Amino acid sequence: MKKILLYVFPVGGAAVLYLWYFDNTTGGAFFAGKAGLVLAFGRLAGIMAALGVMGQLLLISRARWLEPLFGLDRLTRFHHLAGLIIPLALLAHPPLVVWSHALRTGNGFLAQYLTVLGWEGALPAACGGLLIITAVILSLPFARRRLSYEAWHSAHLGAYLGLAFSIGHQFGLGGDLSSEPPYFARIWYALYAFVLANLAWGRVLKPLWLYRANKFVVEKIVPETTEAESIWITGRGMASVPAEAGQFALLRFWAPGFRTQAHPFSVSRPPDGRYLRFTIKKSGDFTSAVHNSLKPGTPVIIDGPHGVFTEKKCLGDKALLIAGGIGITPLRALGESLLSSGKDCVLLYANRAQKDIVFRRELAELEQEGGFRVHHVLSGEPDWQGEKGRIDAGMIKRLVPDFAERDAFLCGPPPMVAAVSAALTGLGVSRTRIHSELFSL
Ligand SMILES: Cc1cc2nc3c(=O)[nH]c(=O)nc-3n(C[C@H](O)[C@H](O)[C@H](O)COP(=O)(O)OP(=O)(O)OC[C@H]3O[C@@H](n4cnc5c(N)ncnc54)[C@H](O)[C@@H]3O)c2cc1C
Repeated sequence: MKKILLYVFPVGGAAVLYLWYFDNTTGGAFFAGKAGLVLAFGRLAGIMAALGVMGQLLLISRARWLEPLFGLDRLTRFHHLAGLIIPLALLAHPPLVVWSHALRTGNGFLAQYLTVLGWEGALPAACGGLLIITAVILSLPFARRRLSYEAWHSAHLGAYLGLAFSIGHQFGLGGDLSSEPPYFARIWYALYAFVLANLAWGRVLKPLWLYRANKFVVEKIVPETTEAESIWITGRGMASVPAEAGQFALLRFWAPGFRTQAHPFSVSRPPDGRYLRFTIKKSGDFTSAVHNSLKPGTPVIIDGPHGVFTEKKCLGDKALLIAGGIGITPLRALGESLLSSGKDCVLLYANRAQKDIVFRRELAELEQEGGFRVHHVLSGEPDWQGEKGRIDAGMIKRLVPDFAERDAFLCGPPPMVAAVSAALTGLGVSRTRIHSELFSL
């Protein structure tokens, strides 16, 4: 079933592109002079833009048939990349259509533009296009760096509004949509229904349905360090929540000041059928508010679990876990679950100082079980008797001489993950054996 769903959008998209070609060759737009040709390509740009936007929505729909295949972080990265190309079609569509009509009527381009804006649904569509382009511009690295997550997120919500504004003109004016027999229109409606159903289910209905079934609630909050604390969540049917060590979920605490935001956090101990534990470090507004004012008894809407950073990636008998700071959360859980599957684990855990080490006691307990070694690496404590500095190729070779026999799991600040990943590939470890979780979507 999952495989069939995977083909629905590409096959549907290819079918409408074929029908565009078929309609324009048999209907003659290709042969109706320059104006016909320009109109056909103007419509093609519109079709491509709409397909692109639908594809983008599917990528971030969190659909269960799609996400486990690639992982939410990869799908999100692909969504970011595709978001740079799709606007080209969106930008090309209006001028091509206006130009074709200007060629027919003999009007100037600007006068024709104003006329077209008066057509059914064209003005809202132009506004919708602007909202989508704005979201794209604000997602470009130079703008994204300067914006808070919330501002960037609001711009994305604006893009949804933009899509809603633009749908009307597709049905009101779309030449291919009104072609007979109505195959194009049927496939088009079906594609929209497919995408919107996946989006609504994955992002809204499923988390609400999960909440209704489980009534998730914060049971206790346990400080781990001065900056990090663990939130223990329980509920009615925890055993049926399909979470695995290494996965994450988006948590929305249902209390004043928290309701409007859902943030991703990794499960920090293997789910035991009674609790899901998440460990949260203060890093901005939301996480500080969690530390300052979240109370036991708060209901939680859980969107997840997500992610493919799990034990299934470990194909051999040995694993090398490398964590930086709060990046320990998925690795702490993964380490325990790998250990219970009889795999040998070495953990290199980088922090600035001893006070920053999260789960120090729990990691020592895992070490005592055997088959689990921990090396704490500190970069900002000169008197530390253990490993000092940054994790690099030399340190990996020295501390883990059998690194080549291990699947590597990395999680930490993106620059650290990039540097350690490069060190491992430099040491000859195949990229297929290096798995990483980035704390950014
Ligand atoms: C897959 C994943 C797993 C994570 N696991 C943990 C964990 O176990 N423990 C932990 O302490 N942190 C974890 N994080 C990081 C955590 O989500 C962010 O630190 C937190 O969302 C920051 O929110 P803020 O408002 O406090 O800080 P801000 O200063 O507002 O945000 C800091 C940065 O966090 C990111 N961010 C903020 N809000 C969101 C959001 N709603 N969705 C996605 N990214 C956001 C943005 O890149 C932003 O620039 C994880 C992140 C991801 C993507």
